[in-house]
Amino acid sequence: MAFSSEERKRYARHLDLPGFGGHAQERLRAGRVLVVGCGGLGSPALYYLAAAGVGLLGLVDPDLVDISNLQRQILHATPDIGRPKVDSAVGRLRALNPHVRLSPHVERLAADNARDLFAPYDLVLDCTDNFAAKYLINDVCAALKKPFVHAGISGFCGQLLTVLPGQSACLRCVFPEPPPLASPESAPAAGPLGAIPGVIGSLQAVEALKFLTGIGALLTDTLLTYDGLEAEFKPVHATRNPACPACGAGAKPKE
Ligand SMILES: [Zn+2]
Repeated sequence: MAFSSEERKRYARHLDLPGFGGHAQERLRAGRVLVVGCGGLGSPALYYLAAAGVGLLGLVDPDLVDISNLQRQILHATPDIGRPKVDSAVGRLRALNPHVRLSPHVERLAADNARDLFAPYDLVLDCTDNFAAKYLINDVCAALKKPFVHAGISGFCGQLLTVLPGQSACLRCVFPEPPPLASPESAPAAGPLGAIPGVIGSLQAVEALKFLTGIGALLTDTLLTYDGLEAEFKPVHATRNPACPACGAGAKPKE
């Protein structure tokens, strides 16, 4: 379907971009991305994906906007305090780009809803803030062969890994288990510096745009780490573990 004159103006910088153009923009419009977590990572990721014209964005988050979120969660503003983050995000994204369909879910990702939530989407972005959710996303995506982009932040640092289950290393291939102190009950780490999730969430958006359009090289089999204090990005090579409990040959199908 052709772009309207309004869409042609809106996406002019993409349509004129060598190596991108109308074909890639059409693929974005047909794209479906689920963003789990509408906080520090989800804010920039959702902003850029909506601005870029991704056709369908799903949003999952059970939480309400708290004043302490506003130091980094740039989708939300002071008048949104007390509202569900998903509602605040939908309002902001709809105002940004009315062409994007938004599917809000004010609920916590859990073992019993993950499959249904993930099924309609081409790609999942892990924008969560805890290890339990990150490993759940990894394991369900591995079982469903659903591509996803892992990310995490702490203090002044962040990391990123794109996973094509069955083809590239997953989170458990690199870190078979969450860190021992990372129980859901443990106190959240101090920080992060507000702009750190902005950097990493923006990189997740770039990975999603490349995945949907088929351009460039995805960040697979490479864990990219970022140290904001040292201004240093480091790619760490990752290899698939044939005995990986999530994506290896002997992985048990998850119910
Ligand atoms: Zn694996």
